[in-house]
Amino acid sequence: MIDIAPGSEILETSLGVLHEVFGYDNFRGPQAEIVSHVGGGGDALVLMPTGGGKSLCYQVPAIVRERAGQGLTVVVSPLIALMHDQVGALIEAGVAAAFLNSSLSSEDAQRVEKEMLRGELTLLYAAPERLTTPRFLALLDSLLERGKLALFAIDEAHCVSQWGHDFRPEYRGLAVLHERFPQVPRVALTATADDLTRADIIERLQLQEARTFISSFDRPNIRYQLVEKKDATSQLQRFIRDEHLGADGHDAGIVYCQSRRRVEEVASMLSEAGFNALPYHAGLDAAVRQRHQDRFLREEGLIMVATIAFGMGIDKPDVRFVAHLDMPKNIEGYYQETGRAGRDGEPATAWMAYGLQDVVNQRRMIDESPAADEFKQVLRGKLDALLTLAEASDCRRVRLLSYFGEASQPCGNCDNCLTPPELFDATESARKLLSCIYRVQQASGTAFGAGHIMDILRGKATDKVKQYGHEKLSTFGIGADLSETQWRALLRQLIAREAVQVHDAPYNTLHLADAARDILKGQQQVWLRTLADKAAGATRSGRQRAARATAKDEGVPLSLSERDCLEALKAWRAEVAREHNLPAFVIFHDATLRAVAARKPESLADLDGIAGIGQKKREAYGSEVLRVVSAFV
Ligand code: ADP
Ligand code: ZN
Repeated sequence: MIDIAPGSEILETSLGVLHEVFGYDNFRGPQAEIVSHVGGGGDALVLMPTGGGKSLCYQVPAIVRERAGQGLTVVVSPLIALMHDQVGALIEAGVAAAFLNSSLSSEDAQRVEKEMLRGELTLLYAAPERLTTPRFLALLDSLLERGKLALFAIDEAHCVSQWGHDFRPEYRGLAVLHERFPQVPRVALTATADDLTRADIIERLQLQEARTFISSFDRPNIRYQLVEKKDATSQLQRFIRDEHLGADGHDAGIVYCQSRRRVEEVASMLSEAGFNALPYHAGLDAAVRQRHQDRFLREEGLIMVATIAFGMGIDKPDVRFVAHLDMPKNIEGYYQETGRAGRDGEPATAWMAYGLQDVVNQRRMIDESPAADEFKQVLRGKLDALLTLAEASDCRRVRLLSYFGEASQPCGNCDNCLTPPELFDATESARKLLSCIYRVQQASGTAFGAGHIMDILRGKATDKVKQYGHEKLSTFGIGADLSETQWRALLRQLIAREAVQVHDAPYNTLHLADAARDILKGQQQVWLRTLADKAAGATRSGRQRAARATAKDEGVPLSLSERDCLEALKAWRAEVAREHNLPAFVIFHDATLRAVAARKPESLADLDGIAGIGQKKREAYGSEVLRVVSAFV
């Protein structure tokens, strides 16, 4: 349903809004097409990676439609804890916005409802459970009757699907929007969705008629590094020290752990080691959680150690690294989580340590879950895809993107591209491992776990080995040529290839699976990395750090006095942010302040064309910015 004006005219109006309100010159990638389509009243499903610029895809059409007299845009968001800052950012830009959620007092909620009914709002953010109450739907009815319901934007749309990694049952109720308000256009947005989830979103939200916009999922500024887990917490510390320690403290980052207990452990371990780290998980008191999130958004250089309960919608632009201490469940989750690094487009790292135990744990969680078999099968397939990524010796990005259906060339910015691993033919060893698993089970009538199998292969006559007489097996001691680390790496690969299965009952035992046959028959080769040389690793990270330091400054090279000016601007911004109770980046991004420091404007007109300074911000802050700068001119 196109109901305002032809596409080109809407695009022109939208560009005007982009410039005037947000202070940007051009739309990025598919934004232009999306805002024209949505602004013109079309339905859309937008798939764009984190940091791609989804917000503008509904905020610009909302403003365009409101100015054309079409009334309110309702934004559905599951992120109650972040609505305050998101709305704050819009208000800073001069847009009439508000939110409705359980954090408001009933007087405040009533005030917002009145503003909405009086037509004073351009955007209203609401949680799905509130939106779908009969009372709220009746309010929307009355807006519709007066022709003042312009658009529904459904953010984090993957929450509607149980195949997504963040299923929220409340999202299922959103089908009512189409049923009850079929004439109101809808735009659904998500940063992640494989084919299955995508189809599910379309069906659940009844978006069959919507145009789908798929952006490239590549985030070229993120460097992927997946390392083998040995002593994960010391590896993590080394990673932060080597690659994310600047002259004035460490970078802001997120460390994901699997369990609450581990979050607590790692957060205190990092704090004791002198890092500025805070824990975040669902077991913490809600007020503590909110406080930690606020500090992460508002302070510089904080490390958030968290379960996956943390991070959706976190739009802090300068998160420099995301580290996974445990392997996530699937690639969607992994990509979404790592995507929180480097939204500002500057270099960032996605680091993960994974090991055999992760694989075993994840399998067990699937096996023990009460889900239906068919569902478990999907989960296992998704886990396997992640495992294959972790074991890959070729470009990580090529594999990640191909998982999302995108073809690409080796990236030059992942661990495997930067230091191609040396491989050797380990087919013979793989056959030894497989036959050992087989023989042991045959001889004892029961299966054993990885540790025991490795002891037999490496010829260790432990008490357990002797107890079962396994030192007499023909496979005893045939694998002394490889280290235990190598055997484990080999085993992980065989699990990833479905040649070996790990059964949780009775006790993480190893079993041969279908793909074992081809390897045993010698019809399939297995390649293994030679063990990494530690010294080479150290010089490499030194180089990376140097490269990163220059890259950071290259955007706008600043002289000494410009740096002082930037510091003064940041100090001024911190004050404003405190007064307004908002994160500093909501006032101005670092990049905006850097551009100001480099340009040294002397009049309001000089501020024109600096990205991130719209009309309202120029009026509100322009003269103060000039005052701060004047000391350095
Ligand atoms: P997403 O929601 O897709 O993760 P955001 O909407 O938060 O991404 O946008 C990411 C960053 O990119 C924000 O800092 C935003 O201001 C910036 N941005 C988005 N679109 C543009 C544009 N057209 N020009 C300049 N900056 C943009
Ligand atoms: Zn690569």
